Amino acid sequence: MTRSTRADHLSLPGSHRLFWDEAAAFLPPDRMMCDPFRTLAFGTDASFYRLVPKIVVKAFSREEVSRLVALAARLGVHVTFRAAGTSLSGQAISDSVLIVLAGGWRGWSIEDGGGRIVLEPGVIGAEANAFLAPLGRKIGPDPASINACMIGGIVANNAAGMCCGTAQNSYETVESMRLVLADGTEVDTGAPASRASLAASHGSLLAGLAALRDEIASDGALSGRIREKYRIKNTTGYAINSFVDHRDPVDILLHLMVGSEGTLAFISEVTLRTVVDHPHRASALVLFPDIEQAAVATQRLRGGPVSAVELMDRASIRSVQDKPGMPPGLAGLGPTVCALLVETRAAAREDLLRQAEEATRLIEEVRKLHPVKFTDVKAEQEKLWDVRKGLFPAVGGSRKIGTTVVIEDVAFPIEHLAAGTVFLEKAMRQHGYAEGIIFGHALDGNLHFTFTQDFAVPAEVSRYQSLMEEVCDVVVHRFDGSLKGEHGTGRNMAPFVEMEWGEKAYRIMKQVKALFDPKGILNPGVILNDDPKSYLKDLKPLPQVDPLIDKCIECGFCEPKCPSRSVTTTPRQRIVVQREMARLGRTGEDPARRARLAEDFAYLGEETCATDGLCATACPVSIDTGEFVKQLRSQGWSDTARARARRLADDFPRTEAWARRGLAAADAAHAVLGTRLMGALARGARGVAGDWLPAWNPVMPRPARPGTLQAVLRGKGRQVVYFPSCIARTMGPARGDEDGRAVFEATLSLLGKADYDVLFPAALDSLCCGLAFDSKGFRDIADAKSEELERALLAVSDDGRVPILCDTSPCLQRMRKLMDPKLALLEPAEFIHDHLLEKLRFAKQPGRVALHVTCSSTKMGLGPKLEAVARACAAEVVIPPRVGCCGFAGDRGFTHPELNAAALSELPAGVKGCTEGVSNSRTCEIGLSLHGGIPFRSIVFLADRAASRRA
Ligand SMILES: Cc1cc2nc3c(=O)[nH]c(=O)nc-3n(C[C@H](O)[C@H](O)[C@H](O)COP(=O)(O)OP(=O)(O)OC[C@H]3O[C@@H](n4cnc5c(N)ncnc54)[C@H](O)[C@@H]3O)c2cc1C
Ligand code: SF4
Ligand code: SF4
Repeated sequence: MTRSTRADHLSLPGSHRLFWDEAAAFLPPDRMMCDPFRTLAFGTDASFYRLVPKIVVKAFSREEVSRLVALAARLGVHVTFRAAGTSLSGQAISDSVLIVLAGGWRGWSIEDGGGRIVLEPGVIGAEANAFLAPLGRKIGPDPASINACMIGGIVANNAAGMCCGTAQNSYETVESMRLVLADGTEVDTGAPASRASLAASHGSLLAGLAALRDEIASDGALSGRIREKYRIKNTTGYAINSFVDHRDPVDILLHLMVGSEGTLAFISEVTLRTVVDHPHRASALVLFPDIEQAAVATQRLRGGPVSAVELMDRASIRSVQDKPGMPPGLAGLGPTVCALLVETRAAAREDLLRQAEEATRLIEEVRKLHPVKFTDVKAEQEKLWDVRKGLFPAVGGSRKIGTTVVIEDVAFPIEHLAAGTVFLEKAMRQHGYAEGIIFGHALDGNLHFTFTQDFAVPAEVSRYQSLMEEVCDVVVHRFDGSLKGEHGTGRNMAPFVEMEWGEKAYRIMKQVKALFDPKGILNPGVILNDDPKSYLKDLKPLPQVDPLIDKCIECGFCEPKCPSRSVTTTPRQRIVVQREMARLGRTGEDPARRARLAEDFAYLGEETCATDGLCATACPVSIDTGEFVKQLRSQGWSDTARARARRLADDFPRTEAWARRGLAAADAAHAVLGTRLMGALARGARGVAGDWLPAWNPVMPRPARPGTLQAVLRGKGRQVVYFPSCIARTMGPARGDEDGRAVFEATLSLLGKADYDVLFPAALDSLCCGLAFDSKGFRDIADAKSEELERALLAVSDDGRVPILCDTSPCLQRMRKLMDPKLALLEPAEFIHDHLLEKLRFAKQPGRVALHVTCSSTKMGLGPKLEAVARACAAEVVIPPRVGCCGFAGDRGFTHPELNAAALSELPAGVKGCTEGVSNSRTCEIGLSLHGGIPFRSIVFLADRAASRRA
């Protein structure tokens, strides 16, 4: 396990070393980091800026944050808070102390029948919406990053998206907050007693806010200007509309916190009023001959029954028009065409249809390329929204290696939408950004212009500077727009805040900062920055590493999916460190640092990657970091290890027999010694022998005894080939399991009830899909095994005529990926769903059953079928929330049990009240049983119990 060493600690500068020492008195060592690997990895956010913190701490309680902030204030050490690190403007990075929330702060509760939600800052936005969904409600803010970003960041950035506009953002929907102020004081703005004690302890802060309120109120021009500027989206500077919208200084303080980007105080809890989440939706993609007509249409739709109007310029459409799945006809459009993607939502279908008609009528007289056609068919809508969602990945994915993708975020008063778009198009072309595209939330005049940028070459940085200088000047002075509509000021726009707001408002913002944070310890350089060139400094390098990961934009979308995120690192962090190693290798700079990064990568990056590839399912540019890790593993083996792996693969019956003997020996010892003593002995042995000795646990499988599985011929005209995976052939039930059968026995029983002839491939005990070899990086051996299996399956299935059932989901996924498509390869729940639900009678078994959908099933899109089968067989089914990949990863659960434990830390809460669990991978079921505290078995067992012949 990697720890920050004494040398790392001693290399900290004086005040940081004191900070470390004092913090170490109340924080556990595994939540404090100052080593080169983790400070770099945790230090990175989605922006194109790079600062490396000296110290990273994970703080999980109000008391810890309060003590840390008070300590920082005393020592004059700067601190930055970090939620999910998906910010784009450089506001979530630090060169001092980074306080990380991820892994904690996950509490939530719903109040007022769904009217309000109380959230801790580490809850992911999409999770909050999942909690509210059964009540037909959602949170107002809807950033496109909602599946990854957290409430702390959403509120502190005043993030917004396609629908929320200025009416449903955090500023408008916040009801109260619990805060930790810059001196460590805790405040609850929703509790009268806390408000009163704040007035007593921080009278000068509240008096200062009241004085600013009165100053603004007495200046008609300024208060008018503030009101005017917030008619459109604006996250430039502090939310000084608080002073014109609210009177009570505590209410002003509360609203100033929204969009404050961690520069005023820490948000430890927020209560948001929720908004309606209408179940019925219809969308239309409307094409206009030019931006002017699209802008006229937008103005007419504003105030109409529409929830989103997304603008895409011609370059945007061009960037995706040739991608698979796009609507036909996009490629042939003229050079000036502009598209609006319009959505309407309603509580009932009749209302939806009426609203779609009304929206169509509103733009009837605007010139269009075709009549408006709304669709409420889900698949058709998804296709239309795929156009919009594909834009950013299209630019990100096609950029030159080493360049970054920049998303700027301006807003124009709606009357300037057309002129603003034309200006941005022209400016990008003039400055040589030919690949640039423009899209955005047209109803709010909020446009993102996206282009690729090389920050490694000074001339390129100058080109960026001249583009930005022109954009800022024109957006502010010609169009009176906002320089940041929703992404936050960060470091990126800090030098331009005064330009946008003017001297008076800027001075007020500086006074706000001084009132909240007189010592300037909270996130300095963000929102306010006296250095006019700060937006061109600390730019992040993106050196080339390997085609498998080079497209990474460091957005962080993959992080919530990764089972190792709370035990070691995330996919983004693995990539960040690989990039730094590549940079150091190429430049020859600091070989010792490179060596240390490489050494720590072995455990933090490579060994604890489950290689499940779930990261790819969330990645906008489809990066599978697991594939990259497998490639690293394949490069790391010695010839001796390769030869040993080949021997195991070549004499597979012996390998299986050897595995069964190992399981039998462990089981026999367990029987004799009992669970406690066995556990203690196994831990002791592993302590001496090291990680190569598999960790024993009390739900360890006993050996399975398949003997020679013979074809079963019933002659009723139904045939299936059954391939029990090598795992299923080796691993039987756990000691004391009530059912007591191995999965192939349950499968054969179920198939028997449906009168299937069951065929087995020849030389079954030699066959394996190769997954175990592949995940360890023995790719050639793995491929040879899967080819051998493929030949056997083609032969026994009559060249693919007979469907093939494999009982282990990860094996089946590999087989589907590699084998001849004419083989009809089926996973058990899929087979039951497609072939048995109609043929057999299924009686719902009593009790509550937990369903775990494995990564491979998720990737194959089998979740709905697994759920349908479970619901057909059990009275109640729960899918434990916040449980993704179990992290068992074949045998990694034996060699790195901490990965499995971390990945399943939320399982016990999710399976409360369940009597058993079902899944479809025997090794995953070991970890699930161990950490869930209930037996997890293949879904086949439940189906076999529930199924009987039809009369
Ligand atoms: C591809 C992509 C698309 C995006 N799309 C959108 C979009 O549509 N709309 C949009 O608005 N944004 C968007 N963003 C930007 C970003 O995802 C959002 O602003 C998001 O809300 C940031 O949340 P986070 O959890 O990542 O916060 P972080 O980046 O970790 O932090 C954001 C800020 O909040 C501060 N902070 C975090 N927690 C706290 C706390 N508890 N107390 C006080 N301060 C805190 C941090 O110091 C930092 O200044 C996008 C980003 C990416 C990469
Ligand atoms: S791997 Fe993909 S999802 Fe993860 S940070 Fe990189 S681009 Fe984003
Ligand atoms: S493969 Fe799995 S463990 Fe590895 S980086 Fe991706 S999500 Fe994380």
